[in-house]
Amino acid sequence: MKIIDINLTNRKIKRIDDDKLDNYLGGVALATELFTKNCKPNIDPLSKENVVVFANGPLTAAFPTASKTVAMFKSPLNGELGESYAGGRMASALRFAGYDGIIIRGSASHPVYIAIHDDNITIKNAELLWNLRSVFAVGRILRDVEPQGPGRRSFVRTGRAGDRSIKYANLNVDNYRHFGRLGLGTVFSSKKLKALVIEGTKDFQFPNMKAYKKAYRDIYNHLRDSDDMDKYHILGTAAGIKPINAMGALPTRNFSSGTFEHVDKTSGEYLAENLLLRKIACSQCPIGCIHIAYLRVPYKKEEYDVETTFVPYDYELIYALGSNLGIDNANDVLRLIEISDRNGFDIISLGGILAWATDAYQKGLVSITDSMGAVFEFGNTINYLTVIELIIRRENDFYHTLGEGIDVCVEKYGGEEFAVRIGGQTPAGYMTGPASIIGHMIGQRHSHLCNGGYSLDQKLFGKSFTPEKIVDELIKEEKWRQILNSLVICLFAKKVFNLSRTIESLESIGRKFTKEELHKLSHETYEKKNAWKKATGQNLTTSKLAARLFKFKTPHGFLDKDFIQQAISYYSQLTEIPLS
Ligand code: SF4
Repeated sequence: MKIIDINLTNRKIKRIDDDKLDNYLGGVALATELFTKNCKPNIDPLSKENVVVFANGPLTAAFPTASKTVAMFKSPLNGELGESYAGGRMASALRFAGYDGIIIRGSASHPVYIAIHDDNITIKNAELLWNLRSVFAVGRILRDVEPQGPGRRSFVRTGRAGDRSIKYANLNVDNYRHFGRLGLGTVFSSKKLKALVIEGTKDFQFPNMKAYKKAYRDIYNHLRDSDDMDKYHILGTAAGIKPINAMGALPTRNFSSGTFEHVDKTSGEYLAENLLLRKIACSQCPIGCIHIAYLRVPYKKEEYDVETTFVPYDYELIYALGSNLGIDNANDVLRLIEISDRNGFDIISLGGILAWATDAYQKGLVSITDSMGAVFEFGNTINYLTVIELIIRRENDFYHTLGEGIDVCVEKYGGEEFAVRIGGQTPAGYMTGPASIIGHMIGQRHSHLCNGGYSLDQKLFGKSFTPEKIVDELIKEEKWRQILNSLVICLFAKKVFNLSRTIESLESIGRKFTKEELHKLSHETYEKKNAWKKATGQNLTTSKLAARLFKFKTPHGFLDKDFIQQAISYYSQLTEIPLS
């Protein structure tokens, strides 16, 4: 494996070429090994001791949908292991530059960015990019100032949310993809690191081109013929809004209901019919699920004087800044997405905090003096737009607190009964039943993508199950995802990359792994992450689950706290992660 090791404190750059790392396959298994060896669990996530590791996978740039990069870091939002994934061109640009991973450590004395052009790696001044009002402007400037060769280029950068140390700042990748959750943008900014530019021009060969072409064709054909993939291409993940709403599982007005009466004006179908501009894809992806809408907003006071911008949308964003805030039309949802995206927020976190703040304001926990005159009410787009700007500016103590994450908000202002949070962050928008909640709790990064609990709920409709069965199924799925995330394929294609196709595709490019070796690696990666998390002092608790969650009628009925407690106790016995 070839790794770039960059120390921002002393500006030393090492290139590591270590065959022993080949046993880690790539992606999350490699990142876990590099991260846990280089970052101590008890460090301050915003200190120079924090380490960021990026890794692409063995199939990157070789197979369709092997398009993602994994990032690992200590999260400033919840103090646990930060693990995040993004598509775009980053993984393939790094592959064509000749590398499998990057380690970034230390912290610079002034804003910088890292430019990787094959083996020419430099640290450059980024003072003029700091605090720019738009993350897209940062991208445009970097595209202009960096040498433009024939290679694949990727531009990764923070927005103002990161520059102002909002704890849930994201990292933007090539405009429309993100390392969204757990505050990687905040960690970048704490290192005074504004951006990463990667360009690769190298080529690579496989030992047996005939076997490679056969394996490629097999995977490509399955992707092309799968109905699941059609859904992602036609409507994108926003295809899920209507069905999840129909089953009563779409969080609405801060999880006070599972059905949204304005769903017809905010659904994937509505957006596709009325506002969709184009669809794009990550590198090497034939699906193209990224849906971009156009948004016309008044520019000045005169009639017809409008500015048109392009806004990516998906299921999670429509839930977080749409139904969960009671926004009744797609244009307003896009306006909220646009300002949040332009400033580099993790939108699921921002939407969850705005939803909590709305209830806190309505119940008198937050005064109009705290809110500086802004009126928090569900459905009020103009006020939410104002409030987002005030959070970015950290305008007073209240808005500063909103930038610190949901746990700090509750500590300071109360409202735990309606603060919907799991593992220090607000969850994804699937109130499908107990597996979704348990999955978020025991998932190693508290994401719906750790183990797909929401999907398990749907498989369990009409069946009987126990807390232990749910936990066993979730762990089994999460362990298998260690392999998919080591290939760093897009999880939308997870059904196509079954065990035999995984082994065959790896073999075709000269990376031989047996079924037993893959299972061993998935188990070891899972355990290594748990051990590191345990060493941070992580424990499991149901005490922070909002009372509101138990008043929500999911498709499986009302959630039972004892059932969830039983599941968590069982998980604690299996993993030895303590309960509190
Ligand atoms: S399906 Fe979508 S997110 Fe996944 S690789 Fe393709 S374009 Fe990217």
